[in-house]
Amino acid sequence: MPDLNLGRPGLSVLPLGVGDAFSTLHYPACMLVSRYQNPAWDDEMTLIDCPQPIRKMMREADDGRFHGLDLHRVGTLILTHLHADHASGLETVAAFFKIVLGRKLRLIALPWVLDGVPPFLRAIQNLGRMDDFFDVMPIYPQEDSRVQLGTTEEGATFIEARRARHPTSTAALRIQHRDRLLAYSSDTAFDQGLWDWLCRGWDASKGAQADLIVHEVGHGIHADYDELAKHIRGLHHNMARDRTEHTRLIHYPDDMLPMLEASAFRLMREGHLEVVW
Ligand SMILES: [Zn+2]
Repeated sequence: MPDLNLGRPGLSVLPLGVGDAFSTLHYPACMLVSRYQNPAWDDEMTLIDCPQPIRKMMREADDGRFHGLDLHRVGTLILTHLHADHASGLETVAAFFKIVLGRKLRLIALPWVLDGVPPFLRAIQNLGRMDDFFDVMPIYPQEDSRVQLGTTEEGATFIEARRARHPTSTAALRIQHRDRLLAYSSDTAFDQGLWDWLCRGWDASKGAQADLIVHEVGHGIHADYDELAKHIRGLHHNMARDRTEHTRLIHYPDDMLPMLEASAFRLMREGHLEVVW
């Protein structure tokens, strides 16, 4: 694909962090989603989760390629859940928007997640309350309940949520822009119902670059690699190949890295842009 095409509307996702909560190799799992094939064109991106140090993570993922990624280029924050490796940057983000940018950030999360946001802002209550920092949009984990972002010439973006299997309320996400889909398991034990939901409407005929499923793997309460791989291996040959090609692993622990690198799956890599053409 020549560079000239990269300014076209599409869907792309830039991983800012790919590690689990205890990683010493990677930042915690966090992604920046753009409505363009190249985020350099986008001044209203969607951030999925906001661990610290979020601005440093954006600058390092930019690496001079995308016209300086920083919080002023973000229009929406989707908060999957409140574990610190996903939410530790909330106070910084809220204060940065209020003090430096002088505007509110759109915040999308499950209602139960939103209920837990105010304690993260307690230390900056001199600056305001949750509604002073954020335009809050709850998202409900029901069929046919989706949030719509924007009606620009690039087309609207639709976001759907489903509860993942995690000890605290956690949203898995489907983000659709035009006919492209980015699905994210978020933190979850492997759950076939969730996997089927992530893959819903899968259309292999859209070609090799269409649709992306980002799935976490890890230890303990997290998605077991063997269960995920076994499920995909059990699919019909062509579908198994397609799903493997279109799946990216994230939130991986340091000690799983050698095994995952030798696996059939591709890993999300910090600063490695994934374009869903
Ligand atoms: Zn978690």
